[in-house]
Parts: sequence; structure tokens; C-alpha cells
Amino acid sequence: MNGFEGLTVAISGGASGIGAACADAFAARGANVAVLDLNASDEHWSTACDVADDHQVRTAVAAVAEHFGGIDVLVNNAGIGAQGTVEENSDKQWMRVLDVNVLGMVRLARACLPHLRESAAPAIVNTSSIVASTGLVKRALYGASKGAVHSLTLAMAADHVAEGIRVNCVAPGTADTPWVARLLEQAEDPAEERRKLEARQPTGRLVSAEEVAAAVLYLADPANKAVTGTSLAVDGGTAGLRIVR
Ligand code: NAD
Repeated sequence: MNGFEGLTVAISGGASGIGAACADAFAARGANVAVLDLNASDEHWSTACDVADDHQVRTAVAAVAEHFGGIDVLVNNAGIGAQGTVEENSDKQWMRVLDVNVLGMVRLARACLPHLRESAAPAIVNTSSIVASTGLVKRALYGASKGAVHSLTLAMAADHVAEGIRVNCVAPGTADTPWVARLLEQAEDPAEERRKLEARQPTGRLVSAEEVAAAVLYLADPANKAVTGTSLAVDGGTAGLRIVR
């Protein structure tokens, strides 16, 4: 048994980075994988979906359920970044990031829940971040959005535990994905910026997308029935350790 045979996993933001690594890992364990993203997946069945648009979300979820005959696991992973203090981001930027990062997860969960209720192994895994529990400079908006994802995960876990639907989140540290590559490209000295990011990690290296995907699979795995309402850090120790070198 590979654990996910016969189960259908819907993954938002599954065309790139952490979501794409999740798609590969679930497929390798025998799952039917459905990617919901602005962009098409190179590797997996996918349907176009902007999580900021409720109509698109409902249409995409219906298409997944129709194509695969149901939905067992939702990986709520699509997200966008923002840099700035509270003085630096406009109301428009706040509304946009909260709309994608928080309401996007609400919309997808709302549309998937009727299908998860039909599943023998239902689970939701949300992608939070180290910024939900650790103050990082110029991450007021992004941190608030991921703090909301963390709290939303706990409230959803409480709401749906009686119907057997487990809800957890994963909290990655700085992960080596196209997202971080884009940030580095904007720096004056990308190599030096990368060195600084790596030095910030107690492990001295960035987290890989595959390492985050492994944690998502653990949280989604029907074998782990006792795990609900938790946040699993995959951050190289950044949130919890104080290393003096
Ligand atoms: P990425 O940019 O490589 O991938 C994000 C994917 O989400 C892309 O395929 C993009 O098209 C999709 N997406 C963006 N907006 C969307 C929308 N409105 N509707 C549907 N799809 C949309 O980024 P990543 O690094 O893989 O990040 C994935 C998740 O992990 C995000 O929620 C991010 O906040 C979180 N995260 C990333 C890091 C990191 O260091 N990379 C750390 C902690 C948390």
C-alpha cells in the first residue's frame, strides 16, 4: 500500500514550487492528482482556477469531482507574497493578499467540503508559514495573512472533527522555490542575498519544496487519524532554535 491509492487530492497552486512538489509526491504514492492554479501543470491533470474568484473555484472543484469521481484531500496551498511595514502597503495590497491567501482557502474549503464528507479518508492541509509565529521584518501583511491561515486551520479543525475531517497546516521556512528565486532576482546582489537567507537557517540551507511536501503527505495520510488542528513546522529550526556561531 502506498497510502493514497484511489484517493483524489486537489492541490491549489500545484503548478509551481511547494504545490508542484506535493503533486509529484501524492502521485508517486498512488493518488489521483488535480492541480488548481492560474497556470496549467506540466505534469498533472489541471484546471484553471483563480482562488480569488468564487465562481472559478466552484467551477474548478466541480470539474475535479466530475473527472475523478470525488475529492478526498484538499491541499490549500496557493498564495502570494508581500513585503512592507504597515506604513508601506496600501489598502488595495492588503485586500488583494488577504483575498488570495486567506479567503482563497475559505472558498476552496467551502466548495470541497460536500465532497470530503463523502470520503472515507478526508483531510485538508493548509500552507501556512514560519511568519505565522515568528516576527520577520517587512512582513506585516504577509505575516498577518499566514497568522490568519494558522487560526483558520484550528477553527476549521474544531468545526469538522465530529464529521471525521482532519484539518492541519504546514509552516515552511524559507523554501527554495521559484517564489524565492523571484525575490532574489530583485536583490542588488542575488548571490549575497541567498547567502544571507541560508545563514538565517540553523541548518545553514534553505528548505526544499520536497521536504515541505513530505510534511503535507504526513498530515494528509489517512493512517495519521489522531493528527488534527496542528501546525507542522518545516523550517530548518528557524522558528524554535537560537544558534550562536
Ligand atoms: P510559487 O510562486 O512557486 O507557487 C505558487 C503557485 O500558486 C503558482 O503556481 C501560482 O500560479 C499559484 N497561484 C498564485 N496565486 C494564485 C491564485 N490567485 N489562484 C490560483 N493559484 C495561484 O510559491 P511557493 O514558494 O511554492 O509557495 C506556495 C505556498 O507556500 C504559498 O502559500 C506560500 O505563501 C507558502 N510559503 C512559501 C515559502 C517559501 O519560502 N517559498 C515559505 C513559507 C510558505
